[in-house]
Amino acid sequence: MLSPKYKLWHLLPFAVKYARLRLTRRPVLVNFEVTMRCNAACGGCDYWKTPATERANELASFVEAARAFDPMMITFTGGEPTLRRDLEELVAEVARAVPFCYITLLTHGGMLSIERAQRLWDAGLDSFNISLDFLDERHDTQRGIPGLVAKILALVPEMRSRGMAVRFNTVIRDDNLDAILPIVQHAHARGAGVNLSVYTDMKNGSKDHLIRGEQYARIEALVGDLLTFKRRHRGVITNSDWYLAQLPRYLRNEMPEPCRSGETTIHINPQGIVRRCPDFPADKHWREYNGYAPINCNACYYACRGEAQAPLALSRFQDLIA
Ligand code: SF4
Ligand code: SF4
Repeated sequence: MLSPKYKLWHLLPFAVKYARLRLTRRPVLVNFEVTMRCNAACGGCDYWKTPATERANELASFVEAARAFDPMMITFTGGEPTLRRDLEELVAEVARAVPFCYITLLTHGGMLSIERAQRLWDAGLDSFNISLDFLDERHDTQRGIPGLVAKILALVPEMRSRGMAVRFNTVIRDDNLDAILPIVQHAHARGAGVNLSVYTDMKNGSKDHLIRGEQYARIEALVGDLLTFKRRHRGVITNSDWYLAQLPRYLRNEMPEPCRSGETTIHINPQGIVRRCPDFPADKHWREYNGYAPINCNACYYACRGEAQAPLALSRFQDLIA
């Protein structure tokens, strides 16, 4: 589970909770978008254009929604959540209110010092998900934050030495195919994890880094390498085997099945309004959530789409136990 806070016996209450949530058709993972503001400047995302004045419209607490959904997993995300100076309090009250819930933070890491990471860990985080698309300065360029990759690579071993669980969130793009396996190996060497997804133009229409047709053969080879790595070292790559194996099929546009986002995974924006996935408009207050029907959308292959389709296979349990 990539968190030393949990022991093997915790799998039982988590499994009971999972069964209850699936039977009652409630989301397993709730993403709290605590702010849409961001101080990076990624080409494929416009959140950083959110005016600073939006701060006044952000919920002061997410605990009521957390208690009502009582999910198995909660992610604090954004925008850039560490811009919220009260993030420690937001995490702490949710951690106190929801037992047996795996709480993570998704951050670009640019403002994460070891002291702040420790405070967030003590507040109740179970893991840090740090965005990392390259192991060199290309990462700084694409995020618009000088010195970012050096900072992350220095910080992670320090966090690991204090027992904090860390995972890299890595987007597979047209220009980082050479970096994917090295990122996985880097994570493995430092006791960290990696979660992979694929670049989409859904966020702001930028097609700059979509995987191109002539790269499909490289993607197939990469997926083969990733699955081989997973079989040798379970617990590093957190995507299911099924999700990885379907990547070439998605890229070749051979995935006709509807998207089931919004069923097991939802996003709640800074005003408390729900959306089925991070790239669809928010449409109802969280109190009015009653599920989303499957939708014919093929715009992305995020985990909220791909993992929702994944069958419950033996390899999933092997991942979980590892
Ligand atoms: S992708 Fe993340 S880090 Fe980049 S601008 Fe969007 S919210 Fe900020
Ligand atoms: S495929 Fe699903 S998760 Fe992706 S953008 Fe469309 S609705 Fe959202």
